[in-house]
Amino acid sequence: MLDFTHDPSARSWVDAAQSAGCDFTLQNLPIGIFVRQDGDSHPRGGVAIGDQVLDLAHLAASGLLAESASAACSVAADATLNAFMAMGPASWQPFRHALFKLLSSEADAATQEKARACMLPLGEATMKMPVEVRNYTDFYTSRHHATNVGRVIRPENPLTPNFEWLPIAYHGRASSVVLSGTGFRRPNGQSRAAGHPSPAFGPCRRLDFELEMGFFVGPETMLGEPLSVAQARERIFGMCLLNDWSARDHQFWEMDPLGPFLGKNFCTSISPWIVSMAALEPYRVALDRPASDPQPLPYLDDAADRATGGLDVHLEVSVQSRQHRAQHLAGDRITATSFRHQYWTIAQMLAQHTIGGCNLRSGDLMGTGTISGPAPDEAGALVELSAGGTRPVPLPGTGEIRHFLEDGDSVSIRGWCEKPGFARIGFGECRGEVLPALDLGTA
Ligand code: MN
Repeated sequence: MLDFTHDPSARSWVDAAQSAGCDFTLQNLPIGIFVRQDGDSHPRGGVAIGDQVLDLAHLAASGLLAESASAACSVAADATLNAFMAMGPASWQPFRHALFKLLSSEADAATQEKARACMLPLGEATMKMPVEVRNYTDFYTSRHHATNVGRVIRPENPLTPNFEWLPIAYHGRASSVVLSGTGFRRPNGQSRAAGHPSPAFGPCRRLDFELEMGFFVGPETMLGEPLSVAQARERIFGMCLLNDWSARDHQFWEMDPLGPFLGKNFCTSISPWIVSMAALEPYRVALDRPASDPQPLPYLDDAADRATGGLDVHLEVSVQSRQHRAQHLAGDRITATSFRHQYWTIAQMLAQHTIGGCNLRSGDLMGTGTISGPAPDEAGALVELSAGGTRPVPLPGTGEIRHFLEDGDSVSIRGWCEKPGFARIGFGECRGEVLPALDLGTA
């Protein structure tokens, strides 16, 4: 539902919130966990506005918020956002409304002055993990990605017969979900080259990124309690950017007949700011399911979700190599697409997750699966962009090429929403750097 917090003409007294290309506008109000850089050892909730962070612990103590919003603010000020997510939409909404009024240029001078005292510049904050991730599940819901990758593994039959019937997923590894900016070592493992009778052990030679979004579960569910699509939609707190780093050579050798294991469990990166579903409301769209495709079974179908279950989020990936950095270059954009091209909605994903009785915990992280659009240059992973390593992907800034990632490559995902009649909102950045593998020998 749209309300006054989506009014594109509303402005903030934080001037930078109105600057061109700003992700953290008044209509956005993303939430994260931060510490001050001056030796502060108390992680706490913050809301980004323009070039500032609103410190929720200070705000909760300021007396600026009315009772309903103040209680939510105290919980959001915690060292992780799990408890705030557990509160549900009845608490999230008054909190968003109160922050919007507080930061709006309509707020009186005395209020502005008190609120400004609760802020610090973004540049003086170090971001921390926004939630304690207790469970992480990764879906596989882009038809274009599934077809492109399927073509590498099974050229004669790329799309598996279940894809059009259910949102496919595997249970991922929560312990290796890290915050944007964290480097990780190229993983060691087994792989078997085409035509070889036995595998070899050593550093991954087909290291890849996966352009994804993440979403977080709000109130928990009980064991045995299935959610309808409509109920699932109410349970989702918000979204972030996610990079599901993948060791393709290890993955393709190990995952037949079970799911991914070492190919996926060495690192997953998320962006620090979580954009609420309320902020994303203006960007809801219908997903594009051809009438000739199987229609969803009743438990995966919902009229409102059919009409507005998709989200038009513009997404881009850039790669910055060591050579880029040596030449002080930002890196090259290698793909761009929109989340609107996905085949299943996030509410359908969550309904599928619970339909057999699996319980959800507050703050559980769901990956949407790699996001690839219909055109070849909209693919969300190198294995697609390089057609399984057979086609070079150019980095025009340095003249280098890539088939897969090299040591020192820093991969950056950015995402934002823009639409006439509404304010721009953005997710900031999800970045991670590939460090050299540990030398464990090869055989
Ligand atoms: Mn993935």
